[in-house]
Amino acid sequence: MSERFDTVIVGGGIVGLSCAKALSDQGARVVVVDRDRYAEAASTGNAGMIVPSHILPLSAPGVIAKGMKWLMNPESPLYIKPSADPAFVKWLWTFQRHCTQSHVDHGIPVLRDAILASLELLDAWCSEAGFERAGLKHTGLLMLHHGDKARQENMELAETAEKAGLEIERLNREETLAREPALKTDITGSVYFRQDARVDPEGLLRAMEDHVRALGVTIVEGAVRSIQKKGRTVISITTGDDIIEGDQLVLAAGSWTSKLTKGLGTNLLLQPAKGYSVTIPDADHGGISTGMNMPCLVTDQKISITPMPGGIRFSGTLGLQGFDLSIDERRVGPIRRHAALYCGEEHVSSRSTWAGFRPASPDGLPFIGRLPDMDNVWVATGHGMLGVTLGPITGQLVAEQIAGTAPTLDVAPFRVDRFD
Ligand SMILES: Cc1cc2nc3c(=O)[nH]c(=O)nc-3n(C[C@H](O)[C@H](O)[C@H](O)COP(=O)(O)OP(=O)(O)OC[C@H]3O[C@@H](n4cnc5c(N)ncnc54)[C@H](O)[C@@H]3O)c2cc1C
Repeated sequence: MSERFDTVIVGGGIVGLSCAKALSDQGARVVVVDRDRYAEAASTGNAGMIVPSHILPLSAPGVIAKGMKWLMNPESPLYIKPSADPAFVKWLWTFQRHCTQSHVDHGIPVLRDAILASLELLDAWCSEAGFERAGLKHTGLLMLHHGDKARQENMELAETAEKAGLEIERLNREETLAREPALKTDITGSVYFRQDARVDPEGLLRAMEDHVRALGVTIVEGAVRSIQKKGRTVISITTGDDIIEGDQLVLAAGSWTSKLTKGLGTNLLLQPAKGYSVTIPDADHGGISTGMNMPCLVTDQKISITPMPGGIRFSGTLGLQGFDLSIDERRVGPIRRHAALYCGEEHVSSRSTWAGFRPASPDGLPFIGRLPDMDNVWVATGHGMLGVTLGPITGQLVAEQIAGTAPTLDVAPFRVDRFD
């Protein structure tokens, strides 16, 4: 490719495309390079929830103990596969160091501000560009509970969320059913998070792709094989067919980003956290209509239910088990059984299950910033279960840092070298 770009972005998932949008709005000539975003990216098959409710970082007190307890349960929603891989051991060690109340107290305002700013941007982008395909709906979200433990967990979250200034309501069973009459999950109550929303994640990705192309962004299909640098500056990247040159390089390759930073001298603390989803089309698309409108999260089983244009999606599990996308039927079992509750066994058994990797940092906060020891390389990943939610603000923060303008939010908590 003879053209030279202002910015080369590796990764065309929601984070890479959000960076492309924000940089292009700033007047930059941008190219996005991705090997196959609709096959591999986490940005397609996820639960599509935009979640101010998720202000607690994943690394919180008690998580490791839960993981250990669930180790022997093949249907547990959290799974940590023991491994001696040094990168995994270092990640897990750093993760457990952050499972403290003081880290949670630090993370809550950081995540709250980033999530709310991102939602505002997503709204602006949707109304500016008419992203009908994204199916953005400001429905709010119901955090459901049945048992005492889940109820207590939800009540604690409600108190934290209220203190953080979020708009919530504690609902009993009848009040919950009044909000979502099509609910079939057996519940005793819920917490309603008014500011949460939902999208069709693949629709959003396709709408973003059309939009950035219309803005003049070039999208190239290809796997980045090598990165050429001179001292502290990257000059170009190489795919199988092309050498692509640019002044700035943004690495937004989801869970695979650490494979790219390694060649540039940084061992990024990032692990793929596997999750599953099962999608049932509505009656107009060969499936069954459930009448559900509200995204819900079943706290007892950590299963999410997201109505989407054309169907409904059930998602869950978090497996730290390396880059393994095979489907473990036992672990998907609880998700399929929940789907069958709404859609009937016959509609669930014939449907394919999707698996994807959440790019997980060890402190539950994303990496958004310059790569240590490099002058023109930027990292945008590590969003874990919040990549769709935090995509737009990530794009904006990357664009602002590259332009050298004052960032919308304090970027110190997202620094790439914060664990050094
Ligand atoms: C089951 C599940 C449910 C989820 N639910 C939600 C939710 O409700 N709300 C939410 O906010 N988040 C959710 N997430 C998390 C969210 O999906 C991710 O955080 C987000 O999609 C990450 O986006 P990304 O652009 O960083 O990475 P990805 O979408 O994974 O994209 C990375 C891209 O980089 C490309 N790539 C990698 N290496 C190379 C290379 N060498 N050369 C070229 N291209 C390369 C890949 O092909 C891929 O297309 C969920 C995730 C899962 C698994």
